Order: sequence, then C-alpha cells, then structure tokens
Amino acid sequence: MLNAIHQLCSNYPHPDTHYYKTPLAIHNLVNNMAKKHLNKELYVTCLSDPFNMVPAASDYSVFVPAVSYIDTEGLDPNADDETLIQQFLDKIKEIPFYKKTKKSSFPKFLQALLIRMCIEYAKDTENAARGLEFTLLHELGHVFHHHSKNHAKLNQKYENGSSKYLNNISLGLLKKIEEIKQSKKHETEADEFAMKTNSRGAIHLFTFLTEFSKQQRKLKKGRILQSLACRVLFSPKGNNRSFYLSHPSEILR
Ligand SMILES: [Zn+2]
Repeated sequence: MLNAIHQLCSNYPHPDTHYYKTPLAIHNLVNNMAKKHLNKELYVTCLSDPFNMVPAASDYSVFVPAVSYIDTEGLDPNADDETLIQQFLDKIKEIPFYKKTKKSSFPKFLQALLIRMCIEYAKDTENAARGLEFTLLHELGHVFHHHSKNHAKLNQKYENGSSKYLNNISLGLLKKIEEIKQSKKHETEADEFAMKTNSRGAIHLFTFLTEFSKQQRKLKKGRILQSLACRVLFSPKGNNRSFYLSHPSEILR
C-alpha cells in the first residue's frame, strides 16, 4: 500500500517518500486536493487505532486510517487471523506515530478481512493509487456538501421534537429511517463529487471490490464469517462500495 501512496503523492507537489514521514505526505496530498477542489485548508488526522479503517470527514478535517499507508510487504494473507493481525501490529509499531494504539472495536475476522483486502489491493500500485485518490476525493465531497452540518441538523430536529405524540421508541425508529435515507444521499453525492475528477479510480475500486468479494466468498473453509461479511459489505444488494468500509450502513460516513 505504501507504494501506492508514494505513487499518488508523487502526482502532487511536495512528494515525500520517506517511510516515517508518510503521514506528512498524506497531509500534503489531502491539502493540495482540498485547495484545488474546495479552495480551503483541512486538518488531516491520522487515526491512531490501526484497525479503524474508516476514512471520514467533518467540515474541517479528513481522517485517514493507518492501514492506508503501511508497507504491506511481509504480511502473509494466507496466515490465520490472529497471526495476520499480529504481523500488522508489528508493522504499525515501526511508525513512531502509532506507538499509542487502542484496541479495535472491530471483530477479529473483520480486521483480518480488511488487512487481506489491503494486501490484495496494493499489488497493482498504479491503480491502487487511483483508487486511494478516489476515496480521499469522496471524503472531500462530504466536506464540499457540508454533510456533517446536515447530520447535526437532523440530530437537533429530533432533540427539539416534542415526544408528546410519539413514544421514544417510535421517535427513535423515525430518526433511524431518516438517518439511513440521509446517509445514502450523502454517500451518493460524495461519490459523484469524486467521480467528476477521478472516474478511472472509481471504476478500478468498484471492480476490485466485486472481484475480491467473489474470491473471498469462495473460501468457505474456516472463513464463514468473512464470507458473510463480504456478502453484506460488497454484494450488489448490500453497500457494494465499501472500500475501507467507507460506506457502512452507519450514519456519518
Ligand atoms: Zn462517505
């Protein structure tokens, strides 16, 4: 993955290919894209939890997961979940920035699945760089459309809403329905924003996800949960566009 990042960063000014300075390279990359496409500066936060693989954006920040810029060399995708996760943690230790890591909230099988996905993805450096650019542009799309503000508005609406006529359960359900609807709209808008500048990245990314998911679903032996997760996350009937889980069926993505 590191090579893909270097490839991507080298297309922008301030290329910085030193391993330990990669978070800085990402920072420069995101800010160059933000200046170009949004005409503003953003903070870039490198997520300290190595397993939090969800890039996200607020009005002034983009969060980039650690897994995006580790060197995938030396990780064995065929190792069992525990071993692979340990290999990943050892890699993260090499980066001074990640000395303090919290425990992941993701179940182990999902952590391992995502690490395998990154290893597979990083094989094609040039296309991986395009896909990564698409993912980052998608996050900038959320910033461009002020999606975090819309989300706050929706929260406020339900906080101010009177519960005179509805009990809390019905209100919670209504809120959830509206959140899912808003979230889908936001993801589509963010994708469209990214697609305008990088349609090739989008095509590569979504093709990769579909193929990866198909492969994983075939590996039933001992990987039933992974296979199920692929069905939910990447199937055409599921979210299908969940690179790094950037589109889980959660709010705020
Ligand atoms: Zn998104």
